Amino acid sequence: MKIVVYPDKILEQKTEQVRFPLSKEDKDLSDEMFKYIKNLDHLAAGLAAPQVGVSKKMCVISDGENIFMKLFNPKIDFFSGDTLEMTEGCLSFPNQFYIINRSGKVRIKYQNEKGEWKKVNASGFFARVIQHEVDHLNGIIFTNKKGAIKTSLEELKNEKK
Ligand SMILES: [Zn+2]
Repeated sequence: MKIVVYPDKILEQKTEQVRFPLSKEDKDLSDEMFKYIKNLDHLAAGLAAPQVGVSKKMCVISDGENIFMKLFNPKIDFFSGDTLEMTEGCLSFPNQFYIINRSGKVRIKYQNEKGEWKKVNASGFFARVIQHEVDHLNGIIFTNKKGAIKTSLEELKNEKK
């Protein structure tokens, strides 16, 4: 699977809803994205369809440990008022890291592979991954987030200790 890198225009486009029942094409793509994320190291915990050249509301996320999920048509319907600054990277921005301020907790509403609506509450790192990936589905790249500060991989490694 080829990862689209900035400044490809697709990264800043709004995506289309995924329709159910899932087409074979969408199912296969989600399987490939899922496999891709499962084989990555812990620094990269999410992948959104625009990053593989498909402008649809589909992403795969991980909590960096043992949770791996496919999300279709996800929407964050709750953002906590408390915010956390953390260093983020993005597969579409190789070797670039930014400190971003985001909500500490979120609740997400999404469709699973069968098209059933589900809800998940997330906090900390997992909440961050979800916010980053849902931004991708809205054509928002992390370097454009308000207050984003450029940093380095060394900083990120220190933060993870
Ligand atoms: Zn990203």
